[in-house]
Amino acid sequence: MSPVEKGTAHVLLPWHEAAWRGLQEAREKKRLPHALLLVGPAGLGKTHMAEGFAQSLLCDAPLAEGRPCGACKGCHLFKGGVHPDFIRVQPEQASKSQEITVGAIRELVAQDAFTSQFGGYKVVLITPADQMNRNAANSLLKTLEEPVPDTVILLTASRPHRLLPTIRSRCQRILFDPPAEEVALAWLEARVKHADARLLLHLAGGMPLAALALDDAALLEQREAAFRTFSGVLAGAREPVGAAAELARLDMGLLLHWIADWISDILRLQQAGAVGRLANPDHHQDLQRLAEQLDCIPMHRLLERVYMARGLERTTANPELMLDDLLVACREYAA
Ligand SMILES: [Zn+2]
Repeated sequence: MSPVEKGTAHVLLPWHEAAWRGLQEAREKKRLPHALLLVGPAGLGKTHMAEGFAQSLLCDAPLAEGRPCGACKGCHLFKGGVHPDFIRVQPEQASKSQEITVGAIRELVAQDAFTSQFGGYKVVLITPADQMNRNAANSLLKTLEEPVPDTVILLTASRPHRLLPTIRSRCQRILFDPPAEEVALAWLEARVKHADARLLLHLAGGMPLAALALDDAALLEQREAAFRTFSGVLAGAREPVGAAAELARLDMGLLLHWIADWISDILRLQQAGAVGRLANPDHHQDLQRLAEQLDCIPMHRLLERVYMARGLERTTANPELMLDDLLVACREYAA
């Protein structure tokens, strides 16, 4: 996902400004931590911020507030993805598990990686760090315990509980919260093309980059069709197995996220006065009908099933079968 403007200069997102200033102050005082953990929900641009800060550390002539100039040799090498003092560790694209493996971390630790080629900072970005498997995390731990001067390790995590406590405790944390709605809307309204900015922001739970990623006409149409299918099963108008075959064509992670949001909205509507907090305000009428038709205890159970499916989604060999089970459960709970 790179919904942020392209160009050689790094664009600072408005809701990152305070954290950015804090980092630059620490840098000026020569008190930059050896390891920084950027923590917060997905869709706020943590990796974007980490990349910008890395570029800033490697820029030969930073501008005001340490912003990278975008024009020097360091910036060009960085933006070209070939700066010798920047190392990025991430899951391999082809890997189904999406884990960061011990091999990747060992390579990082072994390649004399912490000696700067240009005599300035050396920056390592591990993103998302919460996808390191246990061996990889243990391997990194030794590095975190023995800081190397002028080496900065940046880690991002939207699920920090998946990190070893010993890794968390060796990093200074920077917390990312969703920005105030008016800040997010001002930024989004200048960029969305296919839908209402406020609706997208709601759908993305207030995360502006996630909202912008939803601004895709085909994706919005898929969501609409998936909602009709899913609500049809809950209302008893669709057979679960046929519906599962139809929904199995979609991205499973995204679909399970949508389903969890729809069920959560039904539960909110079953509690009076919760309309203002709906995640799917565009489906309010349909969700209201379902809320009146269904009982809340089975809906809570169903939501638990969806969360379980989300936990298994990355590892399951047969997503269609998983979806079958889930939709059959929908029908049973709704009966
Ligand atoms: Zn520069």
